[in-house]
Amino acid sequence: MFFRPFQSNMDTASQLTTARRKMVQHHLKDRGLRDPRVLSAMEQVSRERFVPPQHEDRSYADEALPIACQQTISQPYMVALMTEALNLAGSERVLEIGTGSGYQTAVLAELAREVISIERHPELSLAAREVLRALNYSNVECIVGDGTMGHAAGAPYDCMMITAATATVPELLWDQLADGGILVVPIGPRDVQTLQVIRKIEGAASPKSLTACQFVPLVGSH
Ligand code: SAH
Repeated sequence: MFFRPFQSNMDTASQLTTARRKMVQHHLKDRGLRDPRVLSAMEQVSRERFVPPQHEDRSYADEALPIACQQTISQPYMVALMTEALNLAGSERVLEIGTGSGYQTAVLAELAREVISIERHPELSLAAREVLRALNYSNVECIVGDGTMGHAAGAPYDCMMITAATATVPELLWDQLADGGILVVPIGPRDVQTLQVIRKIEGAASPKSLTACQFVPLVGSH
């Protein structure tokens, strides 16, 4: 009797690990994602830690889930696809706009030198900070603020990721991207957007469209 709760925790942990492996196989590899570093980061990060407890059993379904402040944690496929687009080698400094749950932040932290992540809702930023700290990510800085203004103090950034939908790329953010840098961003109206990978080449934007997607809106002054 004594051992039962412990046993069931262990069972849950191993079920989640199995579910995570299956998610990487079925939703990422089988759908064409190939970057071994990204796949291994996706196998490393426990998405259940970022998902509200009542949805824990859906942590490894390939779906976005509701988090606090009427926001969402992105679906694993989208997180992996956006991360792969940045082509991270490990030495980069990355600016993320829209910390949300912090799940994408953790995946970036596995693959880059430093991640600076801005979130407009203090409640989400604080919660993400706690989880990221508990998981021992020491190369992440979570900032509360309006990400459309970027974070000039840390510029220029080698890569940027905007995890909320915008009609255009905010100019202040673009200015903070290093030359040769890559920005991944969902561009378009509220109901559906196109995931764009934009490389900055001698100051000019060289965009490539990846897929249709649906993100919560970027809300800010720029
Ligand atoms: N990658 C996150 C997804 C979060 S959803 C995850 O997987 O959990 C997008 C987030 O962007 C929301 O939390 C929203 O509050 C935030 N956001 C929207 N506009 C913003 C802005 N101007 N500055 C900072 N964060 C913003």
